[in-house]
Amino acid sequence: MADVPFDYVLTNQRIRNGAGEVLLFSWPDFVATICEGTSCFICGRSRREVAFNDEHIVPNWALRAFGLHQKTVTLPNGQRTIYGNYTIPCCKRCNDEMARMFKEPMSALIRAGGEAIQDHIVEHHALLPFTWIGALLLGGGAEQE
Ligand SMILES: [Zn+2]
Repeated sequence: MADVPFDYVLTNQRIRNGAGEVLLFSWPDFVATICEGTSCFICGRSRREVAFNDEHIVPNWALRAFGLHQKTVTLPNGQRTIYGNYTIPCCKRCNDEMARMFKEPMSALIRAGGEAIQDHIVEHHALLPFTWIGALLLGGGAEQE
């Protein structure tokens, strides 16, 4: 077995950077703060700390493109909601950063079609679509708990 270059530390505490921003939640803290709480699903800040504009689970551009804002969706827990209201708490800073990093580039790729997505993956690998889909799953999964 290869040597592990660092020790794994299991902790029930948040890991923060020098600015006090949360870099990693413990699982119990993630469940309490994000899944059961109303803090930003990315950074964990509360509405008292920063401005929020919430994140649509299904991207707003996709809702517009397919006329879904007023259509209903049944969640895995059986609740029904309108796609336009299907959001997860997200602060404006995180939402803007996600838009810049992967939502806007993925929107452009999807609009360009399947061949553009394939070309992007061949040229740049799958990090962009993987990150975008991961955020969709995280947002949808955290919101349905
Ligand atoms: Zn945030």
